[in-house]
Amino acid sequence: MSESTVRIGLVLPDVMGTYGDNGNALILRQRLRMRDIDAEVVHITLNDPVPESCEVYTLGGAEDSAQRLATRHLTKYPGLQKAAERGVPVLAICAAIQVLGHWYETSAGERVDGISMFDVTTAPQEKRSIGEVVSEPFLDGLSAKLTGFENHRGGTTLGLDAAPLAKVTSGVGNGVGDGREGVVQGSVIGTYMHGPVLARNPELADYLLEKALGTRLAPLDLPEVTQLRRERLRHM
Ligand code: GLN
Repeated sequence: MSESTVRIGLVLPDVMGTYGDNGNALILRQRLRMRDIDAEVVHITLNDPVPESCEVYTLGGAEDSAQRLATRHLTKYPGLQKAAERGVPVLAICAAIQVLGHWYETSAGERVDGISMFDVTTAPQEKRSIGEVVSEPFLDGLSAKLTGFENHRGGTTLGLDAAPLAKVTSGVGNGVGDGREGVVQGSVIGTYMHGPVLARNPELADYLLEKALGTRLAPLDLPEVTQLRRERLRHM
């Protein structure tokens, strides 16, 4: 890895990464390589302290018990928190929103403290939310609809320091009845969308990369991505 290689931190893929979420790191790497920018995925497992030196981080979804292991590890090694404080972009999927919040309640009704990177709390909803979710982004710089797949029991309530990522047009999203999807707080973005979400939403992928590099990137014209989006959005 040379000094100019962009390091993409894939956080705890051994315990978090359902429904292809680890693919988000691969999408980031590929979109950089297609622009002739060196990039590598750094696997940060339960055996590693979390480094604060990556240029961007992704975390995937998980089951309740795996979430607990991740929470403990991120508390013990606060590299992710330190990087985010410096404005390094972080993408947190589903369970990772919950882990990054103040606390979450498991399906069994147990309350677990999170790492408070997000001003949010999560509690189980009556019904599990499963299926396609489509939303319109609020984030400056994003204009295309967001598309993904959700599967969660938790419903997330946002506090004053957290803003929603998008307005739901189909599906459930945060699941507390306000028709909102995801969380934005500083450089950290959370979403309930699996997919992997960055394969389906190239604008969001480039948003994270531009934040990571501090520069604009030339657009990529990838017909297969356009086709994937068209196919996913067709019936919504
Ligand atoms: N265990 C969490 C919930 O059901 C997250 C699930 C997930 O990441 N898919 O809310």
